[in-house]
Amino acid sequence: MKGKIRLGGFKASSVADGPGIRSVLFFQGCERQCNGCHNPGLQPGKGGRVLSPSAATDWLVKECHNRKLTISGGEPLEQREGLMQLVDALSALNFDICLYTGYETEQVPSEIVKNLRYLKTGQYRKNLSSTKRFVGSDNQRFFEIIQGGCTPCLREI
Ligand code: SF4
Repeated sequence: MKGKIRLGGFKASSVADGPGIRSVLFFQGCERQCNGCHNPGLQPGKGGRVLSPSAATDWLVKECHNRKLTISGGEPLEQREGLMQLVDALSALNFDICLYTGYETEQVPSEIVKNLRYLKTGQYRKNLSSTKRFVGSDNQRFFEIIQGGCTPCLREI
């Protein structure tokens, strides 16, 4: 699906998907099949709404009023090229972007990290259920990303 992204949903307002009041954009499709997945409807790589990253950007400018956006899924990094284009375009418009992924921290491309404010990493594990904020299981990690130096600095919170 070159040049397009498949989206599974949008929540206008949430306080559970990163700090502050944020909108949440859900990517459609995830191959992980975690036991106890909270979003099984977002696992199939079919359905949802297919848009170009630029059309999704235009739409988000209208729908995400405070420009604080969490990108979740599904697994956004399974659509790496489109995700990168989307994050680039939103960052140029000063969006405050949080990415939720099941990948490990070191697997997230630096081209994406450089445009993020927050990052949640690690696969959901039902047997490690967590009470920590912004994660589902204790193995997952949540970072604030300090930009401005030669490379982004990740501060775990
Ligand atoms: S990574 Fe997330 S969306 Fe994918 S199966 Fe696991 S819990 Fe579900």
